[in-house]
Amino acid sequence: MQTLKIFGANLRDQSKGQFVVHAEGCADCAKLKGEHSRTETHATALSVSASIWADMIRDGEMTADEGLNEIHFAPCVTIP
Ligand SMILES: [Zn+2]
Repeated sequence: MQTLKIFGANLRDQSKGQFVVHAEGCADCAKLKGEHSRTETHATALSVSASIWADMIRDGEMTADEGLNEIHFAPCVTIP
């Protein structure tokens, strides 16, 4: 399990995806100051995607696997 800061959506820079995820306390989080964010603890990247896209997955619009394409995991994120 790792506690993460999930930034997005509506990031100023979406070149890496609609969401960017860092480890909580990572120094790079300061660069994303002002962006919408939330703190959650997860065991896998797939679990992060399932949380971010919960509504769309429930409505059958996408899978958690597909949702990973719009999430950038920074190197500080060590969960598989
Ligand atoms: Zn980081």
